[in-house]
Amino acid sequence: MKFEGKKQENKYYLGYKIWPLLKDFLYPKRCVSCGKIDTFLCEKCEKEIILVSDKKCLFCGRIMDKRVCDKCRKEFRVKNGVAYCYYREGPVKNIVWNLKFRGKKELAQVMAEKIKLLPNLENFVLVPVPLDKKRFRERGYNQSFLIAKHLAFESNLKTKDCLRKESRKPQMDLKKKDRQKNLEGAYTVIGEVPKKVILVDDVLTTGSTIKECVKVLKKAGAREVVVAVFARD
Ligand SMILES: [Zn+2]
Ligand SMILES: [Zn+2]
Repeated sequence: MKFEGKKQENKYYLGYKIWPLLKDFLYPKRCVSCGKIDTFLCEKCEKEIILVSDKKCLFCGRIMDKRVCDKCRKEFRVKNGVAYCYYREGPVKNIVWNLKFRGKKELAQVMAEKIKLLPNLENFVLVPVPLDKKRFRERGYNQSFLIAKHLAFESNLKTKDCLRKESRKPQMDLKKKDRQKNLEGAYTVIGEVPKKVILVDDVLTTGSTIKECVKVLKKAGAREVVVAVFARD
């Protein structure tokens, strides 16, 4: 019995060591934008990314000295927020699309490494925006959860996957006004909600999703919510 156990252990150990090497050989990393080998995002393509200014409101885009204007702080009930880049410029759409629809989970790490969390968030917990069950089953993973996990690793914070979503019509097909309506009541919490939350998503569009998630989180006991997204539409 003892011998069997040892053998089993070795097998896993070898698999653990060899698989990453084999995987790189079988499926070499490629730049998601230009196809260059050995990287998920090459230097040339990275330079084409347009970074979000910290002198503009993350939600309404007004120019100012804060990342979220007073009006949007009130409207979205968030304390602050960060985004790394603009969605429609350069290779960003490609990056997001490859993570979401082509199973390139490694990109979650690339994205998380770019998001610069604000200072003084020591007691905050990262909470990913959820996918609904149907989408989750189709995709097999929630891209925002993966980004949150990598952010947690980078920043030494914890994650808590405490939001759930019911199936609704895809937001993409709807106008801004209808997006909010479509999401009403779609989110619920499970388990205890952290007092201080960093809500993580891949892309921020109209902010309807964020607004609805914050509403639910606050109702369940969250006191402060900060938003961290990879890209701003
Ligand atoms: Zn490239
Ligand atoms: Zn604003």
